[in-house]
Amino acid sequence: MNIVIVGAGLGGLGAALALKSAAPLHNVLVLESAPQLAEIGAGLQLTPNATRLLLRWGLGDRLEKVAASPEILTILPYKGDKVLGRRNGFGKEMVCKYGSPFWDMHRADLQLAMFERAQELGVRFRFGATVTEYDFEGSKVSLSNGDEVSGDLIIAADGLWSRARTQFLRNNDSPLPTGDLAYRIVLHTNIIEDEVLREFVSKPRVHLWVGPDCHAIYYPLRNNTMINIVLLVPDDLPENVAKAPGDIGQMRELFRDWDPLLQRLLALVPQVQKWRLMNNTEMDSWCNETGTIAFLGDACHPMLPYMAQGANSAVEDAAVLGTLIAKARDKSDLPALLRIYQHLRKPRSWEMVKGSLRQRDVNHLRDGLEQQQRDKILLEQLDTPLPGYPFYW
Ligand SMILES: Cc1cc2nc3c(=O)[nH]c(=O)nc-3n(C[C@H](O)[C@H](O)[C@H](O)COP(=O)(O)OP(=O)(O)OC[C@H]3O[C@@H](n4cnc5c(N)ncnc54)[C@H](O)[C@@H]3O)c2cc1C
Repeated sequence: MNIVIVGAGLGGLGAALALKSAAPLHNVLVLESAPQLAEIGAGLQLTPNATRLLLRWGLGDRLEKVAASPEILTILPYKGDKVLGRRNGFGKEMVCKYGSPFWDMHRADLQLAMFERAQELGVRFRFGATVTEYDFEGSKVSLSNGDEVSGDLIIAADGLWSRARTQFLRNNDSPLPTGDLAYRIVLHTNIIEDEVLREFVSKPRVHLWVGPDCHAIYYPLRNNTMINIVLLVPDDLPENVAKAPGDIGQMRELFRDWDPLLQRLLALVPQVQKWRLMNNTEMDSWCNETGTIAFLGDACHPMLPYMAQGANSAVEDAAVLGTLIAKARDKSDLPALLRIYQHLRKPRSWEMVKGSLRQRDVNHLRDGLEQQQRDKILLEQLDTPLPGYPFYW
């Protein structure tokens, strides 16, 4: 079969890898509007549900070179004056429990590794190819340069601002603001001179501070030669602006009362971007009756990054879709297989969307009774988290 994937993000690349790994004889073409894969974005936390798939697709050697494996996970209140949660040997514990590593990684490194592996497997790519129109029943797409591309199946992996979704639902609804935005920071560790900070960054760790209406997360990248910090705060971007340069002074002011260690890290930041965090309403269906279109990733279930599952779940979607399509004898099997795909994936990803929203409530409690109750549970379960523990992972 001929399969056309729209979007070379982590979901689209995952679908290409899953398809070619499970069914090497299918022709897979990826259409990507960007002129090339550029070094964009910042860090990503990859959980074992996704790393086991990436390893299965033959990315182990490439990713081990660029991943960072945190050894310690710590949860602190915003003032940093006590430890609410701690897993020493975090990386080893992940592998023991789930059979696959927890990795922190630069998004650009992951995307490049997936792209190279997909090319090795025979996936074809067209960059600078923007899809402007979908003909779902005709199973073809039109590009901005006037070309038409057809396939037995179109996979819409075109992200949060999915044109496919808008056309499929026949509405012009934009993604919905969640009320939060993210400051995303990436720093090289070799610029750090402060002895306290040098000691702190010397161990690969995930460090989470939770506080009133905001939280901050720190993790390592590229074998601990870089660090990634994300600050999640109430959204103050003007309407219709999704991303803008952030004001460093304003950013530091927001965290003025927080852990002095976090403030020392923020003092190193030369510039920063603010990203509005969006999600969307649930789609009734992720595929059509005739089996010519399927959605995956942010195109159908964008979520807050508070469980770090947006990309991980897009990779899960890709694996399930690829495995199912490999079972098709010909395209007449596609409608039934896509229904199975939707049945397997939609409830789980919606649980992740809702879980990420719930995690915001837990992370952002203001000082008071609820926050004290949360902290009490955390401290009681410091050594052994029990079912219902307030932090999902
Ligand atoms: C601050 C922040 C932190 C995050 N942290 C994590 C994390 O730690 N772990 C995690 O799992 N997730 C995280 N996420 C979420 C994650 O980034 C996304 O869920 C993930 O990138 C979605 O992948 P995707 O392939 O579905 O979409 P995208 O990555 O958006 O890819 C879509 C692709 O489609 C292309 N495209 C769009 N329209 C067209 C068109 N018309 N024609 C051709 N091509 C088109 C785009 O150029 C793009 O390359 C985070 C998100 C944010 C904002």
